[in-house]
Amino acid sequence: MAKGANFPVIAAINETLLLDVLRRAPAGLSRVEMARETELSAQAVSNVSRRLIDRGLLREVGNRAVRGPGKPATILQLDAAGAYAIGVHLDPSVLTCVLLDLRAQVVARTRRRPPQSGDAGDTVELVTEAITELLAASGVHRDRIVGIGVAGPGPIDAEAGVLVRPRLAPGWTGFHLPDRLHEAFGLPTTLTKDVTAAVLAEEWTNPISERQNTAFIYWGTGVGVGLVLDGAVHAGSSQNAGDVGHSVVDPTGPQCVCGRRGCFGEVMRPYRLVIDALQRGAIPMPPELAGRAVDDDVPIRLETVDSLFHILGQSAALGNEAALAVLDRAGQSLALYVANLIALLDIDQVVFGGPSWPAVQEHMMKSIAPLLAAAAEASGTQPVALVSSSIGDDVAAVGAASLVMERNFSPRYTLR
Ligand SMILES: [Zn+2]
Repeated sequence: MAKGANFPVIAAINETLLLDVLRRAPAGLSRVEMARETELSAQAVSNVSRRLIDRGLLREVGNRAVRGPGKPATILQLDAAGAYAIGVHLDPSVLTCVLLDLRAQVVARTRRRPPQSGDAGDTVELVTEAITELLAASGVHRDRIVGIGVAGPGPIDAEAGVLVRPRLAPGWTGFHLPDRLHEAFGLPTTLTKDVTAAVLAEEWTNPISERQNTAFIYWGTGVGVGLVLDGAVHAGSSQNAGDVGHSVVDPTGPQCVCGRRGCFGEVMRPYRLVIDALQRGAIPMPPELAGRAVDDDVPIRLETVDSLFHILGQSAALGNEAALAVLDRAGQSLALYVANLIALLDIDQVVFGGPSWPAVQEHMMKSIAPLLAAAAEASGTQPVALVSSSIGDDVAAVGAASLVMERNFSPRYTLR
C-alpha cells in the first residue's frame, strides 16, 4: 500500500534520486541536467547535492561549456570511494567474497573452497577470515562500508536470514550466516537468493541499459531465474522467486529427486550433461570411472564433473558431433523454458550467466538463438535480446553487494 511521506523521508528520496541519475551517467551531470532528469527544482538539487558532497558520495569533477551564453557548468559524479559494500556468495563448490565501490566496480575479491566438513560453523570461520583478508588488502576504511550482502542457494527464509534446505549443501540447513557476520563485523547484513543477486548485479553493473524487463538465467550446479520487471527487482512474496528447477521441460528426460522426469534443473545439471557426453563417447572416460558402466546415477566427484564439463565445451568448440548433440539437447530444454518465460512476462532481454555458462556459452547461444527466434515468429512477438553476462564467476557475490547498495542508495528501495 502507498504511504504518505514526512520530511526526512522526502529528503532521503531526493538524495537517492540524485544518486540514481548520476549512477546512470558515468561521465557526470551538471546541476541543471540533474534537475531536468529528476524533475526536482534547481534549489532542491543544489541543497541535496551539497549534502551528498559533504557525505563524500558526490564530487565535482570540473566544468563543461554550456550552449549559448553563461558560464561553464560544474559537473558532478558519484565518488566511487564514497561508499563500499561487501558481497559474499555461498556456493556448494566455492565461496566468493568481493568488495564493491559506489560505482559498482569490484575493488577486491577472494575465493575459498568450502570446508571439506560441509559444516556451517567451519564455513562461518572461513568466510570471516576471507572478509578480514579482503578488507586488509583493499585498505578501505571501515567507516565507508555500508553493509554485507550474502547470496545463497534457495530456498531462503529472508526474514530470519537463514538458508532453508540447500539441496547440494545439506550442512548449511538452518545456517544463520548473516547473524554471525553481523556479530563479527558490526555491519548490517542481509541474505538474498543467488539468482536475485545475479540479476541485481547486472542492473548495477550496466546501469545505462534501457532494458526494463530482464530475466537472468543463472546456471550453476542447478538453474534458477532472476527477474527485473518494470525496472525493479522481483524477489517475490517470500523472496524465493525464480525457483524453476522442478518445472518439467522434457517428460522423457532423466529422473529428478522430486520423483518426476525431465525437470529443468535436472536436465541442465552439469553432471547430467557429463553423463550424457560419456554415454555418447563425446569426452574421455575419467580414471575414477575406469572399468565401470556409465549408468544414469554413477557417482562422479564434483571436481571431476567440473573438468569434464569444460572438456565438453572444448570438444563442442572443435566441432565434435557427439559433444554438439549433448549441448543441443540441453539447449532445446533451455530454449523451451525461456520461450515460456518470455511469453508470460513480456521480457525484452535475457541474460545468461552463472558458473556453468562460460564453459559452453558459445555453442549454447548458437543452439538456442534460432529456437527462440522461431518461437517469437510463431507468436508474432518481437525477438528479445540474448546476451551473456559480462560479470563472470563473481556475479552472485557482486549482486549480494549490489543489494546492499540498492538498500542504501536506490530510490526504488526508499520508495518501497
Ligand atoms: Zn524435479
